Amino acid sequence: MNIVLLGSPASGKGTQAEILCHKFGLYHLSTGQIARDLAKKNERIREIVDSGKLIPEEEMTMYVLDFLAHQKSDLKNILFEGFPRFISQYEALEEFLKSKGDGIELVISLEVPVEEAIKRISSRWICEECGETYNLITNPPKKAGICDKCGGRLVQRDDDKPEAVKTRFEYYQNNTKGLIDFLDKEGKLTRVDGARPIDVIASDLITLVMKVRNNDKNKDK
Ligand SMILES: [Zn+2]
Repeated sequence: MNIVLLGSPASGKGTQAEILCHKFGLYHLSTGQIARDLAKKNERIREIVDSGKLIPEEEMTMYVLDFLAHQKSDLKNILFEGFPRFISQYEALEEFLKSKGDGIELVISLEVPVEEAIKRISSRWICEECGETYNLITNPPKKAGICDKCGGRLVQRDDDKPEAVKTRFEYYQNNTKGLIDFLDKEGKLTRVDGARPIDVIASDLITLVMKVRNNDKNKDK
């Protein structure tokens, strides 16, 4: 069972990915992680990653497929997060999995409105001393602006400021909208409202995955 989890910045897809992987024993393939590993060895990639941009579409496809072929060659039960983002990437992944007798069983789009994304991200503050993160809504520091752990000053990352969040959000929409529309037309997309509490969303996602897993088992019989 392979799953693709799509979601805008601040949709909470990282958190939900972890919950699902833990619950169902899925391998969490996060392209953020692949990109960071590549950046350690490759100066050009490091610049792309540091600037918050995406690795070019076809190059990223190559890295992911290479990773799957060599480091995850049993290819079972993967949750893809951050890839595919484009139709070409989706088709390349599907083709590759098909060649191994496997496929993509579920594509979820976790959706939050831009205002909600801005609200969530701009409530995120980080200690400039120790890097501890706080959320003013869900996990505030005991004393405003001060780190509970080390007493350091809490600051906001530049790309977490409202204008930057809006840009990141639009960037996501412009890039991934093509894929979302394509999957929607093919009847392959399941949209999930991401503007709800984490546990409510998680319970919806778990139900979805269980349904797909049961279908899968019946197919094998
Ligand atoms: Zn601190």
